[in-house]
Amino acid sequence: MPQQPDHALIHKPASLRPDPNLADYVQTAARFNWDDAAKLLDGLPGGAGLNIAYEAVDRHLAHGRGDRIALRWLGKSGARRELSYADLAQASNRFANALHDLGVQPGEGVFLLLGRLPELYVALLGALKARCVVTPLFSAFGPEPIATRAEMGDARVLVTTPELYQRKVQGLRQRLSGLRQVIVVGEAPAGDASLHGWDALLAAASPDYTIAPTDPESVSLLHFTSGTTGKPKGAMHVHAAVLAHAVTGRYALDLHDDDVYWCTADPGWVTGTSYGVIAPLVCGVSNVVVEAEFDAQSWYRVLAEERVTVWYTAPTAIRMMMKLGAEALQGFELSALRFMASVGEPLNPEAVLWGQQAFGLPFHDNWWQTETGGIMIANYAAMDIKPGSMGKPLPGITAAIVQRDSSGLRLIDTPDTDGELALKTPWPSMMRGYLHEDERYRKCFVDGWYLTGDLARRDADGYYWFVGRADDVIKSSGHLIGPFEVESALLEHPAVAEAGVIGIPDPMAGEVVKAFVALKPGFAPDEALRSELLGHARKRLGAAVAPKQIEFRNNLPKTRSGKIMRRLLKARELGLPEGDLSTLESDEK
Ligand code: AMP
Repeated sequence: MPQQPDHALIHKPASLRPDPNLADYVQTAARFNWDDAAKLLDGLPGGAGLNIAYEAVDRHLAHGRGDRIALRWLGKSGARRELSYADLAQASNRFANALHDLGVQPGEGVFLLLGRLPELYVALLGALKARCVVTPLFSAFGPEPIATRAEMGDARVLVTTPELYQRKVQGLRQRLSGLRQVIVVGEAPAGDASLHGWDALLAAASPDYTIAPTDPESVSLLHFTSGTTGKPKGAMHVHAAVLAHAVTGRYALDLHDDDVYWCTADPGWVTGTSYGVIAPLVCGVSNVVVEAEFDAQSWYRVLAEERVTVWYTAPTAIRMMMKLGAEALQGFELSALRFMASVGEPLNPEAVLWGQQAFGLPFHDNWWQTETGGIMIANYAAMDIKPGSMGKPLPGITAAIVQRDSSGLRLIDTPDTDGELALKTPWPSMMRGYLHEDERYRKCFVDGWYLTGDLARRDADGYYWFVGRADDVIKSSGHLIGPFEVESALLEHPAVAEAGVIGIPDPMAGEVVKAFVALKPGFAPDEALRSELLGHARKRLGAAVAPKQIEFRNNLPKTRSGKIMRRLLKARELGLPEGDLSTLESDEK
């Protein structure tokens, strides 16, 4: 947890462009209103509404910028592919037409289970053009998280690779009865008539497409996120959210249309969609997409060779780079790089300062979550940075530190006081609901404020500092993991009677998942069973979600109503005072 340290302020970095989009925070925040900001967008021709894909792609053609590079894709085996905005418009048109040809209707669910491949970008934009509801899934998920989400979100179409299909989806087809079309990139393997090959499907589809009138309030993206209890939550976002992406791309990431931008997040998570696809394209930049997983040397090579100017990454990766030391950067020519930002987990002050030392630039931390749809609190290019702080609310956003009590909310005005981070509603990218869970959605709001479930404090200068989560969800390598989902997978194993899952601190990943397990009679708590359970969880959930550690216990602490007390498990694990934890249940945001 970043403390408010005595680190010196970092004054506006020397490399600041002469024309930052947000030159004066105080003035802009005072004057900002979302109606004026809407001028950043065009809307569909003829006043036919607002469609994210039109703003991200087609609009640039209308403004004579079709030749600019939209995507620069670097494949893991050295392949390289560039798509101009005009190419991307045509390819996404083809995909939209292909969906029509397959009988897919507006509002139906199109799920994407792909690594960072060009097809993901084309399918996402094409499905938005066709007014389908798009859900990108993390390709490292195991079959269980895929099935849960596809069932909940009523997946009608899935786009995936032949390999992911065979490993993770084929065995689920019976269960996913609503899934009528599966499209695999490249060619469909011979002998399976239920699969469509991407190449043939798109070749047969027309490259011309007119987006039908789109209600800005119609659902565009369904992003699953984890809560403390129950199934994952399906946060529903609408086409109108694109305004927040246009504004935050400019203000929080300082994107200008001559930038070469790289967001390292996977589009299977909300950052990789909002800021790895939508915001950069809306801002008209050249968007670098790297298929391979993290490796410091190859990342530095990408920064140098692609002449990346704006880089959006995450604390786990920064910590891994820090471990290798600034020497690893030697020999890379990084003079193009001018703005570095980070999101997803607490960014410790040391990491911000290491940026200064290694790159000559600080990392600009910013904060948001799946539900908010876009960046809400940030360190802006022209603002002084207090290392360890998440920065200040976006112009157009009112944030507060609050305390819930029986009569509603109490706003805490005293600086440096811990409370829950709350945001005044509404704003364009705010989720419009949790799929099929109205009550859970309603519980997020009190007196016109959205309660984030994060604990934070604000200092006397208006900077926000992250303190921790108010609930039991786990952040591991930037991925939000619901303990219930992990516990449920463990409970499927015949040896497991009870399971309690918590996050424990880890120097690299922030937190790692640890499970406490009580066994059924007749099972011995030995190493063989531990490995079997670890393997079982990894197979069901995928490596990114599965526990890294399992500890056997005779029984687990429970409340009177029988709920496993994760906080007590955690307090004992970390040697923290148990205080009145025994009376606490897990609060669900
Ligand atoms: P997700 O919905 O998966 O994007 O996760 C959102 C959660 O990640 C937030 O509620 C925070 O708990 C955490 N988070 C995001 N950004 C930051 C940040 N800059 N500092 C600390 N925690 C963060």
